[in-house]
Amino acid sequence: MNRRVRVRFAPSPTGALHIGGVRTALYNYLFARHHGGDFILRIEDTDSQRFVPGAEAYIMEGLKWCGIKIDEGIEEGGPHAPYRQSERKEIYLKYAQDLVASGNAYYAFDSAESLDALRKEYEQRGETFAYNFSVRTKLQTSLNLSADEVKSRIERGDVWVIRFMMPENRNVEMDDIIRGHITINSSTLDDKVLYKSADQLPTYHLANIVDDHLMEISHVIRGEEWLPSLPLHYLLYEAFGWKDSQPQFAHLPLLLKPQGQGKLSKRDGDKFGFPVFPLLWKAPTGETAMGYREEGYYPEAFINMLALLGWNPGTEQEIFSMDELIDAFSLEKVSKSGARFSHDKAKWFNAQYLRRQNDSDLALQIIPILKEQLGIDVSVERAEKVAALLKERATFPKDLVELSRYMFIAPAEYDEKSVNKFWKPENVEKLKELRDLLSSQKDITTATETMVHEWVQQKEYSMGQLMNTLRISILGISQGPSIFAIAEFIGKEETLRRIDTAIAKL
Ligand code: GLU
Repeated sequence: MNRRVRVRFAPSPTGALHIGGVRTALYNYLFARHHGGDFILRIEDTDSQRFVPGAEAYIMEGLKWCGIKIDEGIEEGGPHAPYRQSERKEIYLKYAQDLVASGNAYYAFDSAESLDALRKEYEQRGETFAYNFSVRTKLQTSLNLSADEVKSRIERGDVWVIRFMMPENRNVEMDDIIRGHITINSSTLDDKVLYKSADQLPTYHLANIVDDHLMEISHVIRGEEWLPSLPLHYLLYEAFGWKDSQPQFAHLPLLLKPQGQGKLSKRDGDKFGFPVFPLLWKAPTGETAMGYREEGYYPEAFINMLALLGWNPGTEQEIFSMDELIDAFSLEKVSKSGARFSHDKAKWFNAQYLRRQNDSDLALQIIPILKEQLGIDVSVERAEKVAALLKERATFPKDLVELSRYMFIAPAEYDEKSVNKFWKPENVEKLKELRDLLSSQKDITTATETMVHEWVQQKEYSMGQLMNTLRISILGISQGPSIFAIAEFIGKEETLRRIDTAIAKL
């Protein structure tokens, strides 16, 4: 098919954008870019009851942070503007009326109260009420009221809705790029509301189909939770006579909880201490939820992790830049089954990206944190050394600050376990000898290590015992990166001072 690829991400601004939503946006974006097509952001804000102020701005900022670039949208404009459904209000009624005229939809005048009463009646008989072929001609609808009656009710301002007339007992045949062929019998479905006179707004189904059509969308890539709506959407395309230009569909698998069953929720994040939103979210109610950005994740790492939750490149490669993702992505390699979220894997990705930063970039990231958390002003040059020495051990830039604390501040306490293990009189005696040897050097550098090695061998001492004792005196603990690199960083004078302090204190 030679149709231009045009996809849309169509969130409803009902709160913070869940990472599942970010993944949907990402797959749409990768698909569009892979095929040289367009990525559109459409805000579906016709459900005024669920509208949350700030959510739309949050969505746009989130996508920007992730590096997902919008071709047509609210800020970008485009040939099909406006891209906010509330600003397209006038468009939809005509389409709903067309469906009534063609016999695919009808007016219904039932009040909420009368429908509630019906529902209760059914319940009492042990049945469930469905607004469908079995009841539509018995209720207050244009199917059984006279045309004059319908007209006069509308004119006098009665509340009405337009409902889709779901056919009875028809097999709806559908195709999904990820799930293959699907058949659903239409008798299991109800007559969904398409338009409401009360707020003069379309429902999701009508607005979504009309806009996908008008915006010339070629592929609808969205979450699995929309799969139950697919038969209705197929039938709407048919009813409108738009079959020929109907988009292809792909329903993405769910993001699952780290443990157990079900969809990854905000509560899982709160419980296990990881974010489920890209950015910090401050709800109008005052409630807040943490974000990947604020936790110190690199957007590239976050995106890389998300891309692999549900899509498999078919190779061993795990680290992908955005360009590599665009190159490798295909909907055929998206799995049907849910993808389990792992916090450890998210951190692993960040550690990989931190390691790949060059030292001078990393230096600029940690300088402000060193200032804020340890109150230390460090030069770029010294921060680069910290970065080079410690980046293999960190997940986030802020970890480097904690790990480098002893490079700026002498230990005030000594780790008990390390002390019990290595701080023995015979080791301390040897440490005193080593101290004198070090003090006789012009300065201590990584090059000093070779000399010390030779000296230890000559003396037939244990290198392990002695180095760990030295480490305790300088760092307070028997772990960490090369002790000579640290000695070089803190300087000869400070190194000797720390050794002396430890010998005196311990
Ligand atoms: N507004 C819907 C949502 O919030 C869009 C679903 C779709 O992509 O069709 O997810």
